[in-house]
Amino acid sequence: MDEYILKRIKDFDENYKVVTEKLSEAAVKSGRAPSDITLLAATKTVEVPVINHAYESGIKVMGENRVQEFLSKENELAQGLRRQFIGTLQTNKVRQIVGKVELIQSVDSIKLANEIAKQSIARNIVTNVLVEINIGKEESKSGINEENLDEFLCQLSTIEGIFVKGLMTLGPVNDELTQKIAYFDKMQKLFIDNKAKKVDNISMDILSMGMSHDFDIAILHGANMVRVGTSLFGSRIY
Ligand SMILES: *Cc1c(COP(=O)(O)O)cnc(C)c1O
Repeated sequence: MDEYILKRIKDFDENYKVVTEKLSEAAVKSGRAPSDITLLAATKTVEVPVINHAYESGIKVMGENRVQEFLSKENELAQGLRRQFIGTLQTNKVRQIVGKVELIQSVDSIKLANEIAKQSIARNIVTNVLVEINIGKEESKSGINEENLDEFLCQLSTIEGIFVKGLMTLGPVNDELTQKIAYFDKMQKLFIDNKAKKVDNISMDILSMGMSHDFDIAILHGANMVRVGTSLFGSRIY
């Protein structure tokens, strides 16, 4: 393996220790076991040998942002590594990933849900999805507004071919801690309120929130899946 990849692997090993310690501490503080929290490795721009090394080290789930990048890596990824899609998904690309990922985290329109359903039915499968919420109401971000969640879930529950497993958000990055916590708490409330409801095609199991800079805080406020890139793999070179 070339020097660069070896360096990336060495960096990962050091980072992984720090991240798992932080995750465990937050889990225990929030009254749960570390194993109750899924650490998803956000692997955009990360080379396949580094991803596969992460898998051998204990990472079970990875998430990619771009369909093209995912497809270029897919065949070389370790067999047991669970694959998810976490980026903005264009309707015309859905066909290329349905059946290849176990979860699409970023459903924020009926049009997109319908297309995932259509492609799933064509393959005789049901695709698990999360509803993405724009909790900070940022214009630049995708996701639905929390006010529309009830109606959105109601519509999704009637669509065959998809199954809603929970909620996801990409909270504002630069907000102060108190604001950030307020958003996480809002997400947790939406999650718990909807978990209590019994609706067809919906089982609120996953609350996916928190990234490198705030995953421990997200765990303290109810996240059971965190998506971590930079803190595991180092900063990305775009
Ligand atoms: C890149 C990415 C992450 C991880 O971000 P880091 O700050 O690098 O940890 C999480 N979620 C989504 C949707 C991403 O695109």
